[in-house]
Amino acid sequence: MIDPRNLDTLLHPQFDAEVLKKTEPVGKALAASPGAACGKIVFTADDAKAWKERGEKVVLVRLETSPEDIEGMKAAQGILTVRGGMTSHAAVVARGMGTCCVSGCSEIAMNEAAKKFVLAGKEYHEGDWISLDGSTGKIYDGIIPTVDATVAGEFGRIMAWADKYRKLKVRTNADTPADARKARELGAEGIGLCRTEHMFFEGERIDAFREMICSDTVEEREAALEKILPVQQCDFEALYEALEGNPVTIRFLDPPLHEFVPTEEDDIKKLADTQGKTVEQIKTIIDSLHEFNPMMGHRGCRLAVTYPEIARMQTKAVIRAAINVQKAHADWNVCPEIMIPLICDEKELRFVKKIVVETADAEIAAAGSSLTYQVGTMIEIPRAALTADDIAKDAEFFCFGTNDLTQMTYGFSRDDAGKFLNSYYDTKIFENDPFAKLDQTGVGKLMETAIKLGKGVRPDMHVGICGEHGGDPSSVEFCHKIGLDYVSCSPFRVPIARLAAAQAALNN
Ligand code: PEP
Ligand code: MG
Repeated sequence: MIDPRNLDTLLHPQFDAEVLKKTEPVGKALAASPGAACGKIVFTADDAKAWKERGEKVVLVRLETSPEDIEGMKAAQGILTVRGGMTSHAAVVARGMGTCCVSGCSEIAMNEAAKKFVLAGKEYHEGDWISLDGSTGKIYDGIIPTVDATVAGEFGRIMAWADKYRKLKVRTNADTPADARKARELGAEGIGLCRTEHMFFEGERIDAFREMICSDTVEEREAALEKILPVQQCDFEALYEALEGNPVTIRFLDPPLHEFVPTEEDDIKKLADTQGKTVEQIKTIIDSLHEFNPMMGHRGCRLAVTYPEIARMQTKAVIRAAINVQKAHADWNVCPEIMIPLICDEKELRFVKKIVVETADAEIAAAGSSLTYQVGTMIEIPRAALTADDIAKDAEFFCFGTNDLTQMTYGFSRDDAGKFLNSYYDTKIFENDPFAKLDQTGVGKLMETAIKLGKGVRPDMHVGICGEHGGDPSSVEFCHKIGLDYVSCSPFRVPIARLAAAQAALNN
């Protein structure tokens, strides 16, 4: 009888209830990642990091976040964005880190350059206090004290009961060993999605990645990738270690390349110097990466089709890591699951899979290893769902990327829909945000079709979901009903999914 969403209150800080009762919010937007946060406003990721280092609590306020903001997001108590929806960068990353996030607050009139914004008639500046409730989407002026999360023994008992009844496995979406370990503590039985691009931003690896993007020739690109390979291999080894022989699905590079290029003048200059190019030349390359609809542009497996050397490098890193970890732990079953994103055609998958298989087999033979691995695909484009029988000829597993599948089925941009969805609720066209709660009628029908077609060709294939819906209770119930093997969600939603999966099994 427990509403699984209530578990959030046990796992994230909350506002002091007495103070909250007496305080009116100054704004409301999407409850993108649960918990409460209170801190001083900062406007850049660098400031968030610097202020945190000098002992300040900060809330990062941005128009929207991008992968290069990751360090600042980690440093912040909470994140508030003007743009974005339930599956845009800020929401997905904050949920992964267990950090409070309110996104898509279009009531804010933002002036990022001047480091100020106006909300509810008041002008806010850097250093002003603000409080966010990521569970309700409410924004408060000033300080509301927070109370830390505490988990007691009853939590473990309830989780044990849930595990007894559920049929669905629960995996996690994690890209770092720390997130993976947190998810394991919370009961995750594997990684369903490692977004490898999130590994490219730390330290010096972003420099090598930028060199790769700005290369003129395949040889130059390969030289830059050669620098990334050992770092990525180390990351994968640490993930395999954290998972102790449980399954790990590694998704190959997915976002459009423009997300990785520098925006600051200093960084552009640094890149120009390393590449032996002028600042103007680098700026021309950056401009050439501009796309009108980047989420429907040069991303996902399309990157592997145009730059097979990226897929080759990632395969080497995965396989070498798996071989090493298997060697160190003979009793574990390390079997990498390599997942190709954004497939829309069987020939596209065959093309990329060939690169992966040739590279992986050569690595395994050279190491004299008997490692086995699987190559599968995300089903996140409607055409892939409708032609899943063809795709299953090559895909050894399917994982539904329902963030993109929702975006492409509705034709709603996952980053912009927040702007108009309120009118849809007001006019009763929609009751829910389809990016938060799975649309069973349309997107669900595509999933059922894909399972039926895919399993018709490959009856033993495993099928999961790793879109944000994998941690939403009603969506988890639907996944149970249509016979998925697992749901994968951000670490802090793992207990919610475990309980929701048990309730789905009992109710059905
Ligand atoms: C998805 O599209 O559902 C998915 C999990 O991938 P991403 O959110 O990284 O596009
Ligand atoms: Mg996707």
